[in-house]
Amino acid sequence: MQTHLADFIRETPEGREAEEILRKCVHCGFCTATCPTYQLLGDELDGPRGRIYLIKQVLEGTPATEKTRLHLDRCLTCRACESTCPSGVEYGRLADIGRHEVERQVPRRGADRLFREALKGLVPSSGLFGAAMGMGRLFKPLLPRMLAGKVPDAPPAGHWPPPRHARRMIALAGCVQPSMRPSINAATARVLDALGISLMEPAAAGCCGAVRFHLHDQDGGRDDARRNIDAWWPDIASGHVEAILVTASGCGVQVKDYGHMLRDDPAYAGKAARVASMARDPAEVLAAEAAALQDILARCGAPRSVGKIAFHAPCSLQHGQKVRGVVEGILGAAGYTLTPVADAHLCCGSAGTYSLLQPSFVPAAAGQQAVCPGGGPPRADCLGQHRLHRAFGSRLEPTRSTLDRADR
Ligand code: SF4
Ligand code: SF4
Repeated sequence: MQTHLADFIRETPEGREAEEILRKCVHCGFCTATCPTYQLLGDELDGPRGRIYLIKQVLEGTPATEKTRLHLDRCLTCRACESTCPSGVEYGRLADIGRHEVERQVPRRGADRLFREALKGLVPSSGLFGAAMGMGRLFKPLLPRMLAGKVPDAPPAGHWPPPRHARRMIALAGCVQPSMRPSINAATARVLDALGISLMEPAAAGCCGAVRFHLHDQDGGRDDARRNIDAWWPDIASGHVEAILVTASGCGVQVKDYGHMLRDDPAYAGKAARVASMARDPAEVLAAEAAALQDILARCGAPRSVGKIAFHAPCSLQHGQKVRGVVEGILGAAGYTLTPVADAHLCCGSAGTYSLLQPSFVPAAAGQQAVCPGGGPPRADCLGQHRLHRAFGSRLEPTRSTLDRADR
């Protein structure tokens, strides 16, 4: 695609990156076939190719409008289009640049602005979010249905083994997960402990930065990344830890991107690249320890078959981190029979804060997805699996809770 970026952005780092991405796009449109919003609305401007054109126009000097912003707002940032694109167009990075410019030109007003500011203040603070979640659980019967569906019961975290192994990893606690699913990191710590790895959770780390970064406070998101790097750096620099484990795959995408986020910060660029290279999804760690895991399962006399489940990988894992088939392999090795999930490449409709910002759109996006035709309790990795929670209620568990069962 030919580009003629406008003077205001051409010679900036963002302009150069956008130009490089835009020039890779050959307009083939393959990406539209896997875009949930294009499939729902059938409007070219609600698909990746159309959004790429919109961003290109803005970066070439056409003033952005509220309509431009609407089409970009409707994008789930699921990055299914990246997995489909034969030319390697990094849509997610281009969308970050385009959205930032559109926000600058068409600032939000009124309730929309206030709500986004509230989310930016509340969600990244685990203390504030935990207090809000506690209140939500108390008054859940009185909440509107959409909000009540976002307030899950939290199983107790359980025992966290003390550090006793020479092999150590760091876990990111994050902002939302400690109050929504405190059991996930603790269960991971127990499973890793059985594998001879101690997991530590430095308290000074917090939100990965994705919330503020994707709510167009990119500087705030970078500050979150710097705070986490500072919290982890003493252990990394001393060589005491071999990986940074991020059990929420959306946060994993962000931490793996720290090198890119902070590439222009001379004080943090090197550290950020090192942190990004050490970030792992639990599936990657467990796959690397497969032989030891099999040994443990055999010693425990684990049955060959423990039942059927259907697993839906979050977009942040399959499209963002490009980790595909690994969780399925681990579940299979643990004795589960996986049943097919139709349209498994499509987003569940949660997409972080999207389900709060586009509430009327999400049920439709989510309803588009077929469910598990082979039967078996569903497992999903997206903490906010909007539609799946509606369909399956308490039968739905994050796959990472299955770690807890393996532990028991
Ligand atoms: S990120 Fe997802 S919703 Fe957005 S354009 Fe790509 S496929 Fe469509
Ligand atoms: S598939 Fe890739 S190259 Fe083709 S239109 Fe979509 S983004 Fe452009």
